[in-house]
Amino acid sequence: MHNNTEHLASSAANQPLTHDDIRNFTMPDNSLEDKIILITGAGAGIGRVAALTYARYGATVLLLGRTSSKLEAVYDEIEGLGGKQPAILPMDLEHANYSEMQQLEGLIRKEFGRLDGILHNAGILGELTPLEMYDVDLFAKVMKINTTATFMLTQALLPLVKEAPNGSIVFTSSSVGTHPRAFWGAYALSKQAVEGMSDIFTQETEKTTNLRFNCINPGGTRTNMRAHAFPGEDPKSLKTPEDIMPGYVCLMSDDSIGVRGQVVALQPKV
Ligand code: NAP
Repeated sequence: MHNNTEHLASSAANQPLTHDDIRNFTMPDNSLEDKIILITGAGAGIGRVAALTYARYGATVLLLGRTSSKLEAVYDEIEGLGGKQPAILPMDLEHANYSEMQQLEGLIRKEFGRLDGILHNAGILGELTPLEMYDVDLFAKVMKINTTATFMLTQALLPLVKEAPNGSIVFTSSSVGTHPRAFWGAYALSKQAVEGMSDIFTQETEKTTNLRFNCINPGGTRTNMRAHAFPGEDPKSLKTPEDIMPGYVCLMSDDSIGVRGQVVALQPKV
């Protein structure tokens, strides 16, 4: 068993990174060497690029998502790039139950023996409409995928990730999670709850474990979700998922030890 006190003392002695440091992280080639990282929603958009990037910087990536064909394509890309052999974990977060998530914990423990990081990235937009008119079934679905399943998976995997010497759990928020905005409905509320979850987990664990929790707000990024939210926007005006990867790599790497309970906006408004 590792000595938690010693780890906490050494992270406190080093100055934690600022948000600017995280956004502008230089990503040494071995940033994620030997780390085992699970990414949800790894088949498309930001999650796909995060999986490829984590593999490129040395991690073994566990690809969780609801569309196996997309996960298989990412798997093939990683193998093609010479990355460590990934794993495919098909799971629909809308319908998955807690015991399936606990089984996943057992499977990862058996196959990999460790879990160093989780990037909670999967999410859906729902609809952009006044709360007064929001479809209640869709509301429940958005909350399930974006918030409740995120909580369930975190809790189910916690025993494993707490054992890692410097575990890192990264949630994904949004500008409307930090500042709720009219018409963003369940999506904004689900992301507010995710920010609160990261904060509460941080408060409940920071004195007893090395595990850290943080949120990323990627900012407007060129993906299908963004195109659905802003159909009139020129996608070329947006940063690509690749552009924002330094922040994603930083929060998973040991360089961010000591960074806890933060919401890091990767494209802050100036
Ligand atoms: P995206 O392109 O729509 O990708 C979303 C991913 O989540 C896909 O891989 C999707 O799988 C997966 N997913 C959706 N429902 C799922 C379910 N029930 N079970 C398992 N996986 C599921 O979105 P994105 O833009 O990359 O967004 C990634 C994250 O960043 C989200 O949390 C989003 O809220 C956040 N974000 C994005 C932006 C932006 O501008 N893009 C801004 C702020 C925050 P399938 O492909 O199989 O459907």
